[in-house]
Amino acid sequence: RRPTPTAAPTAAPTGCFDVEAVRRDFPQLHREVNGRPLVWLDNGATTLKPRQVVEAVGEHYASGTSNVHRGAHALAKQATQIYEEGRAEAAKVLGAPDPDEIVFVRGTTEAVNLVAQTWGRANLGVGDEILVSAAEHHSNLVPWQLIAKERRARIVPVPLLPDGQLDQDAYRDLLGFRTKLVALTHASNVLGTVPPVAEMTALAHRYGAKVLVDGAQAVAHFPVDVTALDADFYAFSGHKVFGPTGIGALYGKRELLEAMPPWQGGGNMIDSVSFDETSYAPVPHRLEAGTGHIGGVAGLRAALRYLSGLDRRAATAHEEQLTAYATAALRTVPGLRLIGEAPGKIGVLTFLLAGTDPIALAGALDQQGIAIRAGHHCAQPALAAYGLQAAARASLALYNTVQDVDSLVAALQGIQAEAA
Ligand code: PLP
Repeated sequence: RRPTPTAAPTAAPTGCFDVEAVRRDFPQLHREVNGRPLVWLDNGATTLKPRQVVEAVGEHYASGTSNVHRGAHALAKQATQIYEEGRAEAAKVLGAPDPDEIVFVRGTTEAVNLVAQTWGRANLGVGDEILVSAAEHHSNLVPWQLIAKERRARIVPVPLLPDGQLDQDAYRDLLGFRTKLVALTHASNVLGTVPPVAEMTALAHRYGAKVLVDGAQAVAHFPVDVTALDADFYAFSGHKVFGPTGIGALYGKRELLEAMPPWQGGGNMIDSVSFDETSYAPVPHRLEAGTGHIGGVAGLRAALRYLSGLDRRAATAHEEQLTAYATAALRTVPGLRLIGEAPGKIGVLTFLLAGTDPIALAGALDQQGIAIRAGHHCAQPALAAYGLQAAARASLALYNTVQDVDSLVAALQGIQAEAA
């Protein structure tokens, strides 16, 4: 048994979200690690999978294996149907008007690279500016650095305020007619900040700039509507929304996708091929060369159906209450400093504990079955804004509970007492 923390600083989350019922769907929540019941607080890195996803992937490989979009046999038709239903589920979860505006990719990283290498190469020129928020994960920065170097464009950082919000005054000042693209997270993986994406997008559009929104940390935590945001591109990863690794989706407005040159060449993406002339398939297939991750899409379809089957408002409210509870509980740990406390943040709790190294701290928690992450979280500029190179991060998902938070806080109190 874990000790209970000495203080319960705010009311524990209650309400209509049946977290225990949800937990029963996630087999990994019921295993032990290092002889202790697992407390999974590393959802920012990846989420656990409900049995519906495990079964969907298993079924694909056990009895539904086939390639898609070709072959006239029953299993090819079935696999194609599941694949295209997966695309429709991705469109639905993003509020995208048309499934053809969804391109399957390996994940958020590949989505950003795809846009940078196709849209970016075709649209960026000498002296053009790409505004990148200082809260970005490296995957929404480095692809822009690569293409900026090639096209002799410029990366312009949008600074953070001390609480982790993006500096909107600076953003307005930095936007201009040289701005061609704004790279913006929908929820920061290190600060939890949720920027005002719709407002920032509307401002960017006044200058004719496009906006790519990184939704890797958003889709699992709150309902997304790319149409309401008016985002030009929106990316997410399946494994962060209770689905498999190696599959994700890029949304792009149809006219932008259609104008984008192909990225990779090969099968599936062509209309006709000869040595003299090759023509390409319509979007989204034009941007999906080669055999896709069919088993992954089967799992993604199941994950997105699972998510849509939940009461999303209640799930978000549960996470918000748990985040408030965890924030207050962590503040009771002597010597603990939280990094980033912007209002409306998702359940990403990044912190330092006086007298302990974050990596050693994560190791000590692991000994008690508590999984968190420590390091730079692939967001070195965001940590650098706080003068840091590394920090510990506990990140919540809809299946986390007050008991999970209490276990973390009690363990931190114990570690802190030993270090003092
Ligand atoms: N963007 C954010 C905000 C993330 O948290 C991550 C992963 O941690 C990524 C992008 C990259 O996602 P992936 O590694 O699945 O491509």
